[in-house]
Amino acid sequence: MESILVLAHTATSNDSSAGNGATLTKASLEAVTAGQQLAAQLSATLTIAVLGANAAAEAGTLGATGARLLALSGEAFSEARYATDAAAAEALCRTAQASIVLAPFSSRFARIAAGVAHRLGGFVDTHITAFSGTEAIEATRWFYRQRVEAVVSRDARPWFLLLDAGTQKPYSLVQGSGTVEEIALEAPATRTTVAGLRAPSQGAQTIRPDAKMLFVAGAGWTKKQADGQIHSAEAGDLILGFLHATNASLGSSKSLTDQGSDGLPVLPFLSHMNQIGQTGATPRHARGLSTCCHGEEPHVVGWRFIGDRRAISLDPNCGWTRGKADVVYIADAFQVISKVNSLLDPAKK
Ligand SMILES: Cc1cc2nc3c(=O)[nH]c(=O)nc-3n(C[C@H](O)[C@H](O)[C@H](O)COP(=O)(O)OP(=O)(O)OC[C@H]3O[C@@H](n4cnc5c(N)ncnc54)[C@H](O)[C@@H]3O)c2cc1C
Repeated sequence: MESILVLAHTATSNDSSAGNGATLTKASLEAVTAGQQLAAQLSATLTIAVLGANAAAEAGTLGATGARLLALSGEAFSEARYATDAAAAEALCRTAQASIVLAPFSSRFARIAAGVAHRLGGFVDTHITAFSGTEAIEATRWFYRQRVEAVVSRDARPWFLLLDAGTQKPYSLVQGSGTVEEIALEAPATRTTVAGLRAPSQGAQTIRPDAKMLFVAGAGWTKKQADGQIHSAEAGDLILGFLHATNASLGSSKSLTDQGSDGLPVLPFLSHMNQIGQTGATPRHARGLSTCCHGEEPHVVGWRFIGDRRAISLDPNCGWTRGKADVVYIADAFQVISKVNSLLDPAKK
């Protein structure tokens, strides 16, 4: 019989996905949901292990799951670092003795999962989006920029499965606390000392995987407008104003991010990291709003997991209007976003 371990972690001080530096990340709570479902599906036992700052208290909040709860905390394990995280995850896995290990595909766990699986003589698969099967585990994942969907099963154990964020409903914490087994571990010798963190401030960080909405900027923002002029500074202010008011994540078309290298006007807060599409990202926000973007297939393919799709374009014949968006506003995005920003920020009315 399979036994399942959900490996979760608390947020580091650099992590924006949790409210403060020591609560369970949203992606970890999604892994808890997946663990519960898989355990029920396979009639398997469930253990949930938390590592990081405040791990014992956070594991205690999962009492209502009925799972065995493990925690490993301590100063050395509060910030992400390969040596300490890998040692902690290994200790938790050895204590749980699980055949299946589910973990969020966070940067913290993506870095250590292969190493920990190797130490345990196991196998790891990443980008898992769903599970099926009642006898054996069948894990679904995408390959080749989400073009090919595969169902994977393996005999190797322990089998580590890293779950893509946004694919499961996060576990809702229920009042009450559970009994937590605290695992003590002496921190391994490290060559890396975390001296501090230098990261873009919350306002400057425009890629927000946990945001409810994706806002996409297309090349039209830096094209000549009706008055024959380019208004890229105004475009930048409007886009940042919208992001500030809504906390949306910022995506871009390839044409817009490519412009810098072509010597054309650029929006300084955009990079190739923002690009959505065939050669960019495929995010999973509940809603998306595209602005000044033509909606060509290589771009729209990156929207396949976006729930509600809307677009603002001047072109009534653009790709969005040909069935790729749920709602298309044929309008000037400068005017629309300016009006929306003023409605969102009463001070600017
Ligand atoms: C192999 C390959 C891979 C590719 N991969 C990607 C990818 O990953 N992601 C990607 O995005 N593209 C990708 N592309 C490029 C893609 O085909 C398009 O060229 C690109 O998406 C076009 O970007 P755009 O719509 O922003 O620009 P444009 O095509 O220039 O469209 C600008 C739009 O803005 C509108 N507009 C202008 N001013 C306003 C205004 N004031 N208000 C409202 N609308 C306005 C115009 O009407 C126009 O529709 C790829 C292409 C190839 C060949």
